[in-house]
Amino acid sequence: MKLNERGLLVVLSGPSGVGKGTVRKALFQMPEQNFTYSVSMTTRNKRPGEIDGVDYYFVTKEEFQKRIKENKFLEHAEFVGNYYGTPLDKVEERLQEGKEVILEIEVEGALQVRDKVKDAVLIFLVPPCKEALYNRLKSRGTESPEVIEERIKKANREFKLAYKYDYIVVNDEVVNAADRIMAIIRAEHAKTERSIHKYMKLIEGE
Ligand code: 5GP
Repeated sequence: MKLNERGLLVVLSGPSGVGKGTVRKALFQMPEQNFTYSVSMTTRNKRPGEIDGVDYYFVTKEEFQKRIKENKFLEHAEFVGNYYGTPLDKVEERLQEGKEVILEIEVEGALQVRDKVKDAVLIFLVPPCKEALYNRLKSRGTESPEVIEERIKKANREFKLAYKYDYIVVNDEVVNAADRIMAIIRAEHAKTERSIHKYMKLIEGE
């Protein structure tokens, strides 16, 4: 009998500038991983180098609002003047195929996933210190000083919600953060509540 394991829905969250994207990319480089990334939809302008359908699906506010009405998002949120959301299609399909689906999203959306998908694993990525976060936001050079200021204020509000997550991971070094996340994913798969039914089936099928 083959054990057909369902993938995990992993929510990688935390304040803007903490390095979620870099850690996610490092995760995809890990050996023996089976990740799939859920490309989000947004109404913000494309940054130089970003590719539609790879980094985000870039849409107008009207298009985004239409999709909200049609219930086409697993979660969605407004973040510093723009909408961001996880398209619902594909997520369940990929989980059934046994893939780990990674969502890289902000806090409000992560907490919507918490309510909707009870067995999702929520990881809050934190910087080693606040200065690291601020420096990163400023050095990215893609936002105006006003937007950077707003993102810093938002980050301070987001930190206060970290207690709602399952895990807190420090992004001191990208590879270390990715290693810690891999350890969490392995441990989550081994949790009794996730795996007991498979072994019961094995025994019953004897
Ligand atoms: P950025 O504009 O820097 O690409 O993203 C701004 C924030 O929105 C980041 O914290 C990013 O993780 C988050 N974000 C990206 N995609 C989604 C999404 O689909 N849903 C939610 N709720 N947040 C998202």
